[in-house]
Amino acid sequence: MSERFDVAIIGSGVGGSMIAHRLAPTGASILVLERGERLVREDRNWDPEAVYANACYKAEEQWYDAQDQPFRPGQFYYVGGNTKVFGTTMFRFRREDFAELAHEGGLSPAWPISYDDLEPYYAEAERLFGVHGEAGRDPTEPGRSGPYPHAPVRHDPGIAEVEKRLQGLGLKPFPLPTSVQYHEGGACIACDTCDGFPCKVDGKGEAEVCLLDPALKNGNVSLRTGVHVDRLVTDASGRRIIAAEYSSDAGAGRIEADLFVLSAGAINSAALLLRSANGTHADGLANSSGMVGRCYMNHNCSAVMALKPFQRSHVHFQKTLSLNDFYFGDGHDHAYPLGNIQLLGKIKEPMLRDSLWFLPRPGRDWLAGHSVDWYVMSEDLPDPESRVTVRPDGGIRLSWRRTNTQAHQRLVARTKKMLRAAGFPIVVSKAFSKETPSHQCGTVCFGDDPSSSALDPFCKAHDHDNLYVVDAGFFPSSAAVNPALTVAAQALRAGEQIARVELTRTSHHG
Ligand SMILES: Cc1cc2nc3c(=O)[nH]c(=O)nc-3n(C[C@H](O)[C@H](O)[C@H](O)COP(=O)(O)OP(=O)(O)OC[C@H]3O[C@@H](n4cnc5c(N)ncnc54)[C@H](O)[C@@H]3O)c2cc1C
Repeated sequence: MSERFDVAIIGSGVGGSMIAHRLAPTGASILVLERGERLVREDRNWDPEAVYANACYKAEEQWYDAQDQPFRPGQFYYVGGNTKVFGTTMFRFRREDFAELAHEGGLSPAWPISYDDLEPYYAEAERLFGVHGEAGRDPTEPGRSGPYPHAPVRHDPGIAEVEKRLQGLGLKPFPLPTSVQYHEGGACIACDTCDGFPCKVDGKGEAEVCLLDPALKNGNVSLRTGVHVDRLVTDASGRRIIAAEYSSDAGAGRIEADLFVLSAGAINSAALLLRSANGTHADGLANSSGMVGRCYMNHNCSAVMALKPFQRSHVHFQKTLSLNDFYFGDGHDHAYPLGNIQLLGKIKEPMLRDSLWFLPRPGRDWLAGHSVDWYVMSEDLPDPESRVTVRPDGGIRLSWRRTNTQAHQRLVARTKKMLRAAGFPIVVSKAFSKETPSHQCGTVCFGDDPSSSALDPFCKAHDHDNLYVVDAGFFPSSAAVNPALTVAAQALRAGEQIARVELTRTSHHG
């Protein structure tokens, strides 16, 4: 049985939900196909034992690395995608991130659009997600057309003290932009289980709450959960996508549509395009450039715990402070970009069990009880051999080749030095592994040239007349700040283009 819609959207994360939100007022019939279900609001949402030690919300999926070793990736397949558990940091990329930039590990390529092209969409995306922040404090901040929608979330007293100490060192810490609904009418209670946890009270500014649910209030938008899209089917010419074939517990199905928007996440979107290879497109859809699945990037990230042995940490909502003093380098010591430093959600003992298994539990309890926790992030550069491929059994192989690692090591060392100078005698760090593809991007990159990119600057496939890909796969470079707001802004821009150009052809206006 086949059903027909004007627009079929695959995936309900930031990209897919933003497209549904933007196209809802056009009146077009829109179906969102999501492999996951709605994440249930329940007590264990905030239970670190359940969420971390038992990984109860993590996908039960196995991927393979370049050496064919299986691993369980940190993927969260729910309505709202990975934003159900995200840390709510909502950064704009820096103006310079859109241009070619020399790094210690190589070149970060230019984007086919500029910061100014995306600025109005950043502003609208911040409004939709309800971002808190303070313009004018971040020394690397690009120009803005207006203030943040909400004032920054106030620091807990312990963090206010850290901020003062960092300022005393001549640094410029600033309020971390964050999309929690900690404002009038919002449900957030600024608790200590945000980053990495689902929100039991819908207090996060995330894709399901801010975009998809409002879109579904329009009768023309519908959502189908528990459907895994296995393949996209083209017409005989190969130019048009005619159907998405899916499997579900209720059986297989087929959705036909005039327009398809793929937003399954950078890794799954690349895998789906590769799995959809056919007689006309033997190497996969949208892939005449050979770029689909290539240039997989994920930031180089480390967690850094700063400890005062004689002072317990009483921080609740910890994600309120960030530094970009070393984003473009370390003054005279180092000329190349190093990256961003931001507070992490409060680390709790169960989160340390995997990496500090050798420490007795009281040791881990002590660490978590005395630390201020940071997230240190450096740019990963595009390498064509860093790839997503599909195994003969249809499974995903993720061969991540990390790049620019010296820059990250320098940033971690610089952060430790800074924190020791700010009064924390003990500072320890741990790098995030390949099993945490949280900031995955780059696998279906956009560009002006069809021979070196899969998508055009509006995220439409060069090779197809009716296919857009709007998840983080379109990034030509990863920058060194969190990706979700940039996915949101470009999806909004692509949605506007779809409403203006594609849907007017089928008589819908928006
Ligand atoms: C723990 C964690 C913390 C994070 N914190 C931050 C943060 O603080 N700030 C930030 O900017 N970013 C953060 N991120 C990253 C952020 O969540 C992602 O960048 C963002 O969600 C990407 O949006 P997307 O639309 O590209 O993909 P996703 O959010 O991954 O959405 C893809 C959707 O497609 C669905 N899907 C996949 N395959 C199929 C298929 N074959 N058929 C049907 N449906 C499919 C998935 O279930 C999912 O719902 C975090 C991520 C994690 C995991």
